[in-house]
Amino acid sequence: MVDFENILKDADFAPLLMSYVQMSGDTDVLKKYKPYINGPWSFFETVPFDLKNELIHKFSIFLEKVPCLVDYKSEFVLTKDEIHEMLNTCVGQEVPQEYISMIQSETHIGGIKNLDVHWRKNISEQKLNAFHVLIIGAGESGICASIKLNQLGINHTIIEKNNSVGGTWLENTYPGCGVDTPNHFYQYSFEPNHDWSRYFSQRNEIWQYFEKCADKYGVRKRIQFNSEVTQAIWREDIKLWEVEFKTKSGEVSRIQTNAIICAIGQLNRPLIPDIKGLSSFNGPVFHSANWNSNLELKNLKLGMIGTGASGMQIGPSVLDEVSELHIFQRSPHWAINNPLYFSEVLPGKKWSLKNLPYYAQWYRFQLFWASADGLYPTLKLDPNWEHKNISVNAKNHEMREKLIEHIRKEVNEDPVLLEKVIPTYPPYGKRMLRDNKWYRSLTNPKVNLVTSTISHVNSEGIYTENGKHHKVDAIILATGFMAGKLTWPMHIAGKDGQSLANRWKDDNPRAYLGITVPNFPNFFMMYGPNTNLAHGGSAIFHSECQTRYIMSALRELIEEDYHSMECKELIHDRFNEKVDTIHSEMVWSHPGVGSWYKNKKGRVFATSPWRMLDYWEMTRNFNYNDYSFF
Ligand code: NAP
Repeated sequence: MVDFENILKDADFAPLLMSYVQMSGDTDVLKKYKPYINGPWSFFETVPFDLKNELIHKFSIFLEKVPCLVDYKSEFVLTKDEIHEMLNTCVGQEVPQEYISMIQSETHIGGIKNLDVHWRKNISEQKLNAFHVLIIGAGESGICASIKLNQLGINHTIIEKNNSVGGTWLENTYPGCGVDTPNHFYQYSFEPNHDWSRYFSQRNEIWQYFEKCADKYGVRKRIQFNSEVTQAIWREDIKLWEVEFKTKSGEVSRIQTNAIICAIGQLNRPLIPDIKGLSSFNGPVFHSANWNSNLELKNLKLGMIGTGASGMQIGPSVLDEVSELHIFQRSPHWAINNPLYFSEVLPGKKWSLKNLPYYAQWYRFQLFWASADGLYPTLKLDPNWEHKNISVNAKNHEMREKLIEHIRKEVNEDPVLLEKVIPTYPPYGKRMLRDNKWYRSLTNPKVNLVTSTISHVNSEGIYTENGKHHKVDAIILATGFMAGKLTWPMHIAGKDGQSLANRWKDDNPRAYLGITVPNFPNFFMMYGPNTNLAHGGSAIFHSECQTRYIMSALRELIEEDYHSMECKELIHDRFNEKVDTIHSEMVWSHPGVGSWYKNKKGRVFATSPWRMLDYWEMTRNFNYNDYSFF
């Protein structure tokens, strides 16, 4: 006999309430609890203890009478208005009508299933066997694409440079490596994991999730590991891509394929800074994405260059062990506090996610909303805003003040540190980081936060322009990735023989929807140009949008017996004009911001300018007229 009353105490209240309402049909209780739910995170909820217990008690009695929770189907059919009111109550905010379809398909609330692509016609075995897709990369996007290709029965191969799946989550093993999007949302919508140990899990657990998915959905057997694609050339004479790849031992192979899904990610090739004398350093020097697990941190004088997402996770994680940590900061990042950052998911909540009908869907909706488009308006430039250099509008300024208030508290009002760590650009200009005790750790006497520019490195340490020498035993380069060289070092040549790198003038990648490029027939990208989500959301949400779109495109090709399709140049150009116009009004283009989102000319090429809703709408239905089919 399950002790419901005890177990349900661990569950988050808002999704619990929704689960109760959906199971019991008792929509009247919404009014009672709505005033106490003030936002989409559990820490925004202030339901008094006795009121909470009242619901838990009532729900427990109800559950005791349910013969079997597995596959339970509520006998109550909720009206659209009731569902809308539940959505509003669950997140303590008015959810605009325009979001409801997307939310329902994302979370399956109200019986709406996802938008998986299915064949519209009977497809013969022969037709299916004659078509082959090559996926480059077995990271999060590549796995997603493979799963959906498998569902359609489309023959495909994955070429992966590493010895296992997971991409960035395989490669990055630095101390403290973890996700800063809530995990119950940073997962495939079709493969929920109810056992995440934390709200923001660490690298091993996330990597294992992708490993499990690769096995469960038969992805692994499709992968050729330890092989790196070196070039892909479109052969117009035979209407196929000819792809060359090299194994780790140097063996070169070739494969011909009808279509390519390039799923290599944007943050794949470490950026090694061009610092004078770096190679003359006597100790170990390595990039954060190539962590040397043999490095003995105990009593080490460690130098770390870079204070982005990786550096900010490494710093506090090594502090207990090292004797000195010299952090070289070129410019500070903003970091936001989330009280759940280090929290573990309680057993009763895991139980509810697994067993309580509808709970997991409502919880996913909460997280989805928490990281959805709510922030978007606060990142838009107000032309009349008076403090343009430090914020972009009144709300953005308010956010800035709150962030500063948190930093002040964390660094104990230390004026020297405050001067160093408060950015002079608006919040969200660069990626917003999560404060993982970063600010607090800067007050540790072991830490030396260096803001003078690095001049050069010698055999014993790092010199800065103020003439100081910082003696260190090892140097970590937490200096980010070459995002602009999106498909580098692969040579990808399209219809007219022109390479992608050439078309993109090295660091100006542009694509239609971030997915297709004119003159590159049957070539699809995932996490391509202008698809990095910088205001919220989860990269996996975007991957699923892209996968859906690509599957629709492939369906068109196969069902209608075309051999190739190509995005129309005009459609591509108009789309990119819109991207640039919207970006010119968004915080990421702010002149005070230098970030990996921008190329050398200052164009934002990495980040999506769209609301999640817009991108979902744009990729939801494949528009035949945007393409030329042959
Ligand atoms: P990053 O955000 O690009 O940060 C690189 C850091 O190195 C910045 O502080 C940069 O300074 C500094 N830097 C670069 N070249 C330098 C030089 N020559 N001299 C001195 N400093 C230099 O890279 P990252 O931290 O690896 O993160 C990249 C992206 O990966 C993130 O934005 C995020 O999308 C993803 N990521 C996510 C997570 C997560 O979910 N928790 C964790 C890690 C990474 P400036 O700021 O002045 O350029």
